[in-house]
This record gives sequence, C-alpha cells and structure tokens, in this order.
Amino acid sequence: RRIAEADSVAVIGLGRFGSALALELMASGTEVLGIDVDEDLVQSLNGRLTQVVRADSTKEEALRQLAVDEFDRVVVAIGHDIQASILTCSVLLGLGIPVIWAKAVEDRHGLILEQLGVHRVIYPEKAMGKRVAHLVRGAALDYIEVDPGYALVKTAAPRVLLGKRLGDTGLRGAYGVTVAAFKRDDDEWSNADADTVLAEGDTILVVGPTSAAEGFAQLR
Ligand code: ADP
Repeated sequence: RRIAEADSVAVIGLGRFGSALALELMASGTEVLGIDVDEDLVQSLNGRLTQVVRADSTKEEALRQLAVDEFDRVVVAIGHDIQASILTCSVLLGLGIPVIWAKAVEDRHGLILEQLGVHRVIYPEKAMGKRVAHLVRGAALDYIEVDPGYALVKTAAPRVLLGKRLGDTGLRGAYGVTVAAFKRDDDEWSNADADTVLAEGDTILVVGPTSAAEGFAQLR
C-alpha cells in the first residue's frame, strides 16, 4: 500500500485541467498520485505531487501495480483522447473504485461515461463558459450557480443597503436574497448578520434564487 490513504486522490491525465486539479489538491493538504503517459509532463510535476508516475491508464495491470485499486477517489482528467478516457473509466469501474470523477469534452462523451456508470461526470469547458457568460453580462464580480436556479454572487454593496443594519433593510422581503458575507477594504471576509452595517465600497456575497441574486447585483 503506497499513498492510498483515506484522504488521497489519484489523478489520471495531467494536462492543463488535471495538473491544475492535482496541484490544488496538494495545496489543500490532500495526497495525490498523478499518472500520465507523457514523460515530459511527469517530469515537470515531479516533486510537486506526492507521487507522479508515467503509465498508460488503459492497462489494468499498470493501475494495479500503482495500487490505484486501493484509492477511494480517482479523477480521470483525460479529455481529448476519448477512447483513452472511456477505456480508463471502464478499467477503474472494473477495479471497483467507489467514486470516479471524469472530465468530458463534449455531451456525447459525457453521456457514454454516464452510461458506463462513472459516478461524477464534469464538463469543465462548458461549465466555465456558462459561468463567464454571467460575469460578462452583469455587475457580478464572481458567480457560482450552486444548483440550477440557486446562486451565490459577489458584487459591490448597492446604495439601498448602506448605513443601516441589514436587519432593517427588508432585503429578504423586497429582493428575495440574503447577504451572507462582506469584505471592507483589504480586510478578510466576515459573515454578515442582522446587525451588520455596510459602507460604500464594501464587497458582498449575495445568495438566493439565480434571477433574484443576479438582479440584485445590478443595483447601484
Ligand atoms: P487538457 O485539455 O486538460 O490539457 P487533455 O485531454 O488534452 O486535457 O490532456 C489529457 C492528458 O491525459 C494528457 O496529458 C495525456 O498525455 C494524458 N493521457 C492521454 N491518454 C492517456 C493514457 N492512456 N494514460 C495516461 N494518461 C493519458
């Protein structure tokens, strides 16, 4: 047993998406086994992940040798080589990995992965395109749709909220949103409550139904 401890993740495919994911997991304290067929990529990540290995993930024996079958979570970040993505997911499902995440580059690719039984299929380019559309369009400084129809929006505090307790603004009744947190100057974020009084220049996090939260972010 190598690094297949409870909080470790195997990332297969260390292209732009896979390597960013693997490095972010490392930064947040998760052990990562990275796998790619490309020797240059493996070299460039050597020492920056817990373990990086050159291997062809479509080969069951190779994955067994790396003890990938002992991981609870595996991410397949192979996108453009759809055949390699599908074969790898099939091998991992055969090994009985409890949770497999896989990246899809287009809808039919994703559908096949879902039909195979991959637990979490993600569409990074599609998701990012949708997200940026909301940023380009409006006044939101950042935007996350938590589920279809419910969003978290970062925006400048509008005039209607300034200088009085949030509890006295009638915000929920009038706009159907909640201010979850605020940030002043270069301070850290603080949780907002009914006694919070916002000032001009504050940045806020608004949560609520997508249309309400986005509409609120348009206020000045
Ligand atoms: P991105 O767009 O995130 O860069 P790509 O799909 O272009 O994603 O890259 C996926 C990575 O997966 C590449 O680095 C490629 O070498 C790797 N890869 C492709 N096939 C295999 C395989 N059979 N085994 C291991 N790694 C693979």
